Amino acid sequence: MQKLIVGNLKMNLLTIAERDRYLESFKKELQGKNVSDCEIVLCPPAIHLESFAGKIEKNDFSVGAQNIFWEDRGSFTGEISAPMVKNIGAEYLIVGHSERRKNFNETNEVVKAKINSALNAGLFPICCVGETLQDRQAGKTTDVIISQIHEGLADVPVSRITSVVIAYEPVWAVGSDSVPTSDEIMEVRILIKKIFADTFGQAVAEKMKILYGGSVKATTAKQLCIDPGMDGALVGRESLIPMELIKIAEIINNSK
Ligand code: PEP
Repeated sequence: MQKLIVGNLKMNLLTIAERDRYLESFKKELQGKNVSDCEIVLCPPAIHLESFAGKIEKNDFSVGAQNIFWEDRGSFTGEISAPMVKNIGAEYLIVGHSERRKNFNETNEVVKAKINSALNAGLFPICCVGETLQDRQAGKTTDVIISQIHEGLADVPVSRITSVVIAYEPVWAVGSDSVPTSDEIMEVRILIKKIFADTFGQAVAEKMKILYGGSVKATTAKQLCIDPGMDGALVGRESLIPMELIKIAEIINNSK
């Protein structure tokens, strides 16, 4: 299975000059690197989607959006929709990120609506799931992951389920320096596979891509992504430095 390396650039690249520097540096760093078994997805702020998509050459990278509203069009001032971002060149959509769950009340119901809208527009949703530190300390990790997947993906028909990517992002590991052990990540990976096997059958479960996200760096990619058998990484801070994101992609690419 091709590995997926997703860079979540969040609310950064404030100027056109910064954006252009990022893209130039990304392309320069990519030259001569062996990442042929990986798909790299860059998720810039919505305002930069068009220029990122316009710079794609020879499948160097794909583009993803960080958010959408679930309706396609209408009186929703300030919002952008799945068909809009698809039309401008995005292929992927991050949904259910812990920052959106926490700061914008993105509930499992909202995640469900956004995933359906994304699939209808032909986008691949990257659905983030993960427990908070309190959940983990209370022994609720399994319950949280099960409900986030069951409720968030409740309306996805079996014919479309493998278009959804799951990103396991323990909330306490995102933007921090605390990380789970390889075994802890592997346990959650096995749990997610089991949820899909029980709901959609073993063949579907085997095809589902499961990423790890939360403090992935070149120095931690082996422990966090390769050793637990993940299908790639969702990278926040390190994705702002093209050289570091590409290093992570190379390490994961060459682990095969
Ligand atoms: C993220 O925001 O999805 C993320 C994983 O961030 P970081 O890599 O900075 O922990």
